[in-house]
Amino acid sequence: MSSLDDFAEAKLAALEAQNLRRGLVETARGPHAAATRRGRRLLSFSCNDYLGLSQHPAVKAAAVAAVERYGAGAGASRLVTGEHPLYRTLETRLAALKGTDDAVVFGSGYLANIGIAPALVGPGDLVVIDELAHSCIHAGARLSRAEVRTFRHNDVDDLGRKLDGRRALVMTETVFSMDGDRTPLASIAALCAARDAWLLTDDAHGLGVVEEHAPTPLKMGTLSKAVGSYGGYLCCSGPVAALMRNRARSFVYTTGLPPAAVAASIAALDIIASDPVLCARPLARAWQFCAALGLPAPESAIVPLVLGSPEAALAASRALEDRGFLVAAIRPPTVPEGTARLRFAFSAAHSETDVAGLAEAVRETCLAYS
Ligand code: PMP
Repeated sequence: MSSLDDFAEAKLAALEAQNLRRGLVETARGPHAAATRRGRRLLSFSCNDYLGLSQHPAVKAAAVAAVERYGAGAGASRLVTGEHPLYRTLETRLAALKGTDDAVVFGSGYLANIGIAPALVGPGDLVVIDELAHSCIHAGARLSRAEVRTFRHNDVDDLGRKLDGRRALVMTETVFSMDGDRTPLASIAALCAARDAWLLTDDAHGLGVVEEHAPTPLKMGTLSKAVGSYGGYLCCSGPVAALMRNRARSFVYTTGLPPAAVAASIAALDIIASDPVLCARPLARAWQFCAALGLPAPESAIVPLVLGSPEAALAASRALEDRGFLVAAIRPPTVPEGTARLRFAFSAAHSETDVAGLAEAVRETCLAYS
């Protein structure tokens, strides 16, 4: 074996020894939160398709029509020839939804977050991040080469202590992806405004499910969760949007999104804007689940059940799969050491009966692991 393979094998063996090795499992998703794995039809509580829109007939039809009209791929970076006519519609729609002057669509939420920070701050500046923020927020901060500090989760006073008068970008999430709790947006926004720190809020898990109210200058998010499609965005002022189109490397040096993804996002945003009953359903389902199990009231469509060790989380996930429910185990480094968990993601595609069945299965299987 080559030294390269030796290296890879040793790394994998170390992960295996800690129950942290991951693998891909073929999963065919369908309507009504169905997910077929290893020939078995499961009910998924692991998708971020909070409104079931990835399977919505109007969203799929928009994607098909875009392929027919513009082809399968964008052909080049948006700044070259990848700017197909659907892009402007999507950005206008996003800006209107978030109440900003402009919006910039990136290839994904990850690409947005690794592009935005380096376009705004650099050496000599400061980036301050909530300690539980998503990996791509940390990655973007590091790429900027500014000094990176973290503040205690949702702790506004600690954030205040970390700001020191230098030009600063503050990055946090509206809804935390692995805990489902919400940031104290109004007080963080007020602090940042008072200290002239630029606040970016990542609304990946809020859009379409829980409303973001605070006036933050950098509203980032993804089109891959409640919107059911693919892509990332930044809603912001005109000058900041223009700067992104010129300086964000993950915007400039990558191919535009396929027209189908952009068309699907537009169709899904139309549904989100016109169907508040649909948008209220994921949170209602999460409430039903938490009430049935005596868990604290949820703040979003995400409910964690922290079990501690990776083994416990894996065993609980397997027990639920045996009962027909797909609930992936979330292990470090996605979550901090000692907090491996099941992460339940509720969707408008779930019925009350689905949730009641899940709660029953969790009561009978997983609570033994907690
Ligand atoms: N931010 C947060 C908070 C996320 O949870 C995710 C996806 N897990 C992303 C950004 C990345 O978004 P995308 O999947 O569109 O790359």
